[in-house]
Amino acid sequence: MKRAFNFNAGPAALPLEVLEQAQQQFVEYQGAGMSIMEMSHRSELYEQVNNETQALFREIYGIPDNYHVLLLQGGASTQFATIPMNFLTPDKVGAYVMTGAWAEKAIKEAKLVGETAVAATSEAHKFNRIPALSDIQLPDQAAYLHITTNETIGGTQFAEFPQTGNVPLIADMSSDILSRPVDVSQFGLIYAGAQKNLGPSGVTVVIVRDDLVKESPKTIPAIFRYDTHVKAGSLYNTPPSFSVYMVNLVLKWIKARGGVAQINQYNRDKTKLIYDTIDQSGGFYYGFAAPESRSLMNITFRLQDAELEKKFIKQSEAEGFVGLKGHRDVGGLRASTYNAVPLESCKALAEFMAEFQKNNG
Ligand SMILES: *Cc1c(COP(=O)(O)O)cnc(C)c1O
Repeated sequence: MKRAFNFNAGPAALPLEVLEQAQQQFVEYQGAGMSIMEMSHRSELYEQVNNETQALFREIYGIPDNYHVLLLQGGASTQFATIPMNFLTPDKVGAYVMTGAWAEKAIKEAKLVGETAVAATSEAHKFNRIPALSDIQLPDQAAYLHITTNETIGGTQFAEFPQTGNVPLIADMSSDILSRPVDVSQFGLIYAGAQKNLGPSGVTVVIVRDDLVKESPKTIPAIFRYDTHVKAGSLYNTPPSFSVYMVNLVLKWIKARGGVAQINQYNRDKTKLIYDTIDQSGGFYYGFAAPESRSLMNITFRLQDAELEKKFIKQSEAEGFVGLKGHRDVGGLRASTYNAVPLESCKALAEFMAEFQKNNG
């Protein structure tokens, strides 16, 4: 089999080693006479997977003891709603940094629950950059400040995070979790759908500080309360067991590669190949994101005219590249270079881009 050069935005590439290991264990998991998917989530074997996955997160990301790691369902989109339901009480304001399409979806849900405020926005620049941290203004009575650390569609990424004092910083890290070291203690809550950097779709990781989940409002249904899942160790109801198992394998893969700092260096090497090709093209290619806000996960770029972009996509597909068409909101092209995308794919793309320019420039 020839593996595609997979630049999909999500669901996205998984490490080949992980897929092969899952294949080996697919029919029978650890001598149990059945697949992990056929097993009770109350069984000892699955409980091990559940506990070990949380422990691996703690180890790899340096998560302090006063944080919980939750493995939930519903995707990041469910967190858009769950966060205000749990934290946005009537006397408070949910503050959001507006960086693009995902931040807009997050604030839209919060507006249904309570009062919100825009703490900073780069809308005037068509969301091609992250607002300066010094421009962020917290309202009085802020319940939290919500940021989207990586805007998957625009291809922008926070290089550093705002200091919010006593106001919990909440981060949607769906498209850059575990792609670089972060100081988890800076955050009140971090969440991420798995299907970009962590594994297959179906599981959502929430890392939350203990003091924030002690008293969710009593009016929220049990399934949407963080304290429900904390108390049950993420086994309140049937978990997405196969997805959790896959995340477990991906975490072991990260660990075997030396951890998040090494993954980050690898990601830098990968994206440099493509950004350099854009920057050295004399304007044939041009990036969408302002250079200081460029993402290491989603590289958004354009060509001079739409016809040429169509030709680029068509030819790239013929040569084994997948997923390079940009999101309809931004247009142009996008290469998603998540943790599991190999350097070889990025090298191949940089070479393809140079060749395409030679033939069409
Ligand atoms: C993909 C993505 C989402 C949506 O995730 P779902 O799991 O599909 O709900 C939210 N935020 C960001 C930053 C994303 O990249």
